[in-house]
Amino acid sequence: MASVLDNGIKYLSGVGERRAALLERELGIRTLGDLLYYFPFRYVDRTRIYRIADIRQEHGSSYVQIRVRIQGFSYQGAGAKRRFIAHVSDESGTAELLWFKGIKWVEKRLETDRDYIVFGRPTLFRNRLSMVHPEMELVERMVNRPNGALQGVYSTTEALSENQLGTKGIYNLVCNLWPLVEGVITETLPERIRRANGLVGLREALHDIHFPSSPQSLRQAEYRLKFEELFGIQLGILSRRATRTTRNDGFLFPRVGRHFNDFYFKKLPFELTQAQKRVIREIRQDTATGHQMNRLLQGDVGSGKTLVALMTMLLAVDNGYQSCLMVPTEILAGQHYASITGFLDGLEAKAALLTGSTRLRDRREILDRLAAGEIDILIGTHALLEERVQFANLGFVVIDEQHRFGVEQRARMWTKNMRPPHILVMTATPIPRTLAMTLYGDLDVSVIDELPPGRKPIVTRHLYDSQRLALYGFMKRQIEAGRQVYVVYPLIKESEKMDYKDLYDGYESISREFPLPKYCLSAVHGRMSAEEKEEGMRAFKNGETQIMVATSVIEVGVDVPNATVMVIESAERFGLSQLHQLRGRVGRGSEQSYCILMSGEKLSREARARIDAMVETNDGFRLSELDLKLRGSGDINGTRQSGMAFDLKIASLSRDTAIVELSRRVAEEVLTEDPRLEKHENLLLAKLRDRFSTSGDTDFGMIS
Ligand code: ADP
Ligand code: MG
Repeated sequence: MASVLDNGIKYLSGVGERRAALLERELGIRTLGDLLYYFPFRYVDRTRIYRIADIRQEHGSSYVQIRVRIQGFSYQGAGAKRRFIAHVSDESGTAELLWFKGIKWVEKRLETDRDYIVFGRPTLFRNRLSMVHPEMELVERMVNRPNGALQGVYSTTEALSENQLGTKGIYNLVCNLWPLVEGVITETLPERIRRANGLVGLREALHDIHFPSSPQSLRQAEYRLKFEELFGIQLGILSRRATRTTRNDGFLFPRVGRHFNDFYFKKLPFELTQAQKRVIREIRQDTATGHQMNRLLQGDVGSGKTLVALMTMLLAVDNGYQSCLMVPTEILAGQHYASITGFLDGLEAKAALLTGSTRLRDRREILDRLAAGEIDILIGTHALLEERVQFANLGFVVIDEQHRFGVEQRARMWTKNMRPPHILVMTATPIPRTLAMTLYGDLDVSVIDELPPGRKPIVTRHLYDSQRLALYGFMKRQIEAGRQVYVVYPLIKESEKMDYKDLYDGYESISREFPLPKYCLSAVHGRMSAEEKEEGMRAFKNGETQIMVATSVIEVGVDVPNATVMVIESAERFGLSQLHQLRGRVGRGSEQSYCILMSGEKLSREARARIDAMVETNDGFRLSELDLKLRGSGDINGTRQSGMAFDLKIASLSRDTAIVELSRRVAEEVLTEDPRLEKHENLLLAKLRDRFSTSGDTDFGMIS
């Protein structure tokens, strides 16, 4: 149904062809509806007028409003550097208003000896209070402000600002827009749901989000819009999940047979933890229902997820199906392959390794045997996704450290079959509850919340670069005692050159401090060939070298129980979950392990908070909650980072946890009553569900 909201933005007064193109390019605003849903990111109390003298004291860089008289104008510089300055004052002091661009336009409009309300971001420039490109309005025009006391501040871009579409310009457009669309906004939530949850109507909410008359009305508007967004997502997710669990084409693994039992009774060198047993039970239940399993397995590094995966793969083998284990890096694939073939030694099940660097001849042979059903367990990297990798009867897919795989890649795994294989996604990055509800809401979740017995908590310390001698002394004592040490350097794509320099410098000074023949060093980083890396890893693993100097390539999954010290250089540059992952590389044996965080003296507030948290706790769940808070929502809400197929416009998964939970509950209630939303009273909800589920279908819900 065509609506005014679908009309192109260029027809709105104040826009036109050129600005329309800019709005689309810069902000993705193409239609009137897009603009209506372009919300302010903050609000300024326009009833509050600051005194110039007061701003100096209390204000950082947020927007303020002053009431001033223009005393005179001046110019500075020439050519491109030319600037136009208005000298203004109020009874408390003076300020300068600066323009670098659009000078002609401003010049023509401002007059001396008249009073203006000036709105902008104050800065101290040459010890004078100044505002760059402020918004100006004559006081006499301000008297009848139609739209309440709080004025929305819209985010904008430089290109837009240069075309009179600064935050105020966009605000003006929204003012022009409102009368045109007010009448066509149709309610999206049934009245009973609004009433039960105290939600204002959509029209009121959209009005108040742009033009709130009070903080109270703003809160109500936000609440309603956030609820709608999160509720729509939940309806989509839970519907997909309902569809999956009502279809009956999942493979059945009813039998516990020879492969599983031989491993369990003859090979397993230790007792499973209670948590491991519970998860295996959960998977067994899932695979006995006839529905396809879609399960997320969370467990801290070293908690024994891979072992659970192996046992489940053997279960698949017992029932006549092939499995595959997909991991993000070649090193990790190689390690898994080595440990799994170790475990399978003397047993019948056959495993193979396939990565990008598998030789052509070997590859051909593997592919043939795979298609003939002679390989039971295939371990590999992204290479497994290639078209020509064809299984005889793939029944079970394990994806390790899922955050490194995109949504797309995950989806491709089950186009390999007519029937979808069971999926187990394993992650060591704990996902806070509300985030899991939203991102993985259609997955069942298993948690391994217990480490194998005998592990001692890792001791974490923070040292400044100036305390390096103490660090070296400590490393020597540990090596003396027969232990091994990792030294890890950050590698960030944007500053790769500098990072490698740090790595090389670090390597140099460590080799000076730990000279041959007493000490041997391994080095592994991204600029090495696969063989070189392999060799470095191998030597360290076999204890031929005592120190492993590396970039974060070892971040995922290296298993050297004799390594007890993890030194993280420039720790302030790592994210919290990365730090925690790295720390998980030690503490795998029975010896006391240590993580040493090295940093410069100067730390940002966030960096200090991350480091303090690491020193304080080993609990991955607590760290991930904190991480979510520190990073704010922007990071996580982004499609790219989260693997989420849509962007949130207003809700935040980290801040609005209560609304996430509420919307989940309400969605569950509605869907229990009417799973397909077919009842007349749920017509609106079916629409809402579809709005939020079309794009999401590429995710775990491949079933339509
Ligand atoms: P994750 O994949 O969760 O990081 P792994 O499965 O790689 O953990 O296990 C880490 C280490 O602990 C491995 O060396 C593994 O053999 C060992 N391990 C796993 N489960 C147990 C257990 N129940 N008891 C003792 N050691 C275990
Ligand atoms: Mg692992």
